[in-house]
Amino acid sequence: MGLGCIFGKHKWNGCKCGSCQRTRDEGHDWGKDCEKCSCCGMVKPDAHQWRGCKCTGCGKMRDELHEWSKDCEKCSRCGTRRKDAHKWDASRCSTCGKTRAEEDIENLEYADVTLSGMLLVMSMARYGEGEALKPKARELRDMYMAVRDRLAKVGNTEAKAALVKHSLSLECLESLRVKL
Ligand SMILES: [Zn+2]
Ligand SMILES: [Zn+2]
Ligand SMILES: [Zn+2]
Ligand SMILES: [Zn+2]
Ligand SMILES: [Zn+2]
Repeated sequence: MGLGCIFGKHKWNGCKCGSCQRTRDEGHDWGKDCEKCSCCGMVKPDAHQWRGCKCTGCGKMRDELHEWSKDCEKCSRCGTRRKDAHKWDASRCSTCGKTRAEEDIENLEYADVTLSGMLLVMSMARYGEGEALKPKARELRDMYMAVRDRLAKVGNTEAKAALVKHSLSLECLESLRVKL
């Protein structure tokens, strides 16, 4: 403890004295979380400024009031996904206007990134700890296959380019001989 602290002259750094660790109720840091000071841990209830699923103050997310208008299955604010929400009218969704091919390409990207990550973890853990990931990996692989089949039939160049770009995980799966 510094001599100053004994006489009440603390070295305040926000809400905390850098010398004796004493705290005060001012200068808190709410930047990372509007409801909890990242410096002293003080809690302030109901302080988030929610705009749908995301707080405009600290960026924290919550799983409610997502923004589905641009894409029925992916929140445009936080990226949360949900399944089977499009209303397909032929190859276009009548709610958000997305086309089946756009949706397929995005799904392919999502599956590729997620499956790659899983394969990495699974191979690092020599499949032992990867056991828990297998059901999800299987689900992604099946989705992958279905999307690939559909995209191959669509035959537009964008879809073909996406197919070439996003076949990494399946190749990886094959080369690692991962049994799912
Ligand atoms: Zn002090
Ligand atoms: Zn504080
Ligand atoms: Zn907040
Ligand atoms: Zn959201
Ligand atoms: Zn939709």
